[in-house]
Amino acid sequence: MTELTPIIAIDGPAGSGKSSVSKEVARRRGFGLLDTGAGYRALSWHLRATGVDTTDSDAVIAALGGFDLRLGLDPEDRSVSVGGVDVTTEIRTPEVTAAIAGFVKVPEVRAYLNAIYRRLAGESGLGGVVIEGRDITSVVAPDAPVRILMTASPEVRAARRGQELGADTATVHAAIVARDASDSHVLDLAEADPGVDVVDSTELDFEQTIEAVTAVIDRKLEAHNGR
Ligand code: C5P
Repeated sequence: MTELTPIIAIDGPAGSGKSSVSKEVARRRGFGLLDTGAGYRALSWHLRATGVDTTDSDAVIAALGGFDLRLGLDPEDRSVSVGGVDVTTEIRTPEVTAAIAGFVKVPEVRAYLNAIYRRLAGESGLGGVVIEGRDITSVVAPDAPVRILMTASPEVRAARRGQELGADTATVHAAIVARDASDSHVLDLAEADPGVDVVDSTELDFEQTIEAVTAVIDRKLEAHNGR
């Protein structure tokens, strides 16, 4: 990754506010936005659409060659396409989300997607890129000048997601707890790596969360630029 593109690495679980806050921060700063979850979702969609068993590691690895992912960095345009097909909406269905767990731990899959992410951010030519996901602060961009872990209590996260999806909180809460467990290999919610700033939004509204994240970015970029 080039030194010229400062990376703002933001990790967090579902409902932590990570996606909406990352988008808004990128928009206000004129930075790019890279939604790494969209890549996992798009792969899940692709595997299902081409009849590949998402739990068969060898078959999934073999399918990577035909996976033509297009992911942009414009925070105003979150469209995602696979092989020229716009899948922006389809990748958000519960079926596509659930199927990710089948291949998410396969090292070849993670390495494949991470190479795409590093190339996209490094070649962006932008003044900064916010990369959001689960393993950005630890694996994708461990040397990023700004590394943030966003958290919130499972109850608050379930309430936010439920509102977003128009679903009842109890169902969403169960799905969130299950996803936390299946993502625990990439995201340690209990302990952030040294050098990672934790922003807990349990008690914060959207604007307050933006302020907290922006304060970390300002402080860390100033230290980075003055080093
Ligand atoms: O962030 P989002 O909810 O769109 O991510 C969907 C899923 O993709 C996560 O639950 C996780 O399993 C996987 N993911 C990942 N590493 C990332 C981003 C997402 O394993 N950096």
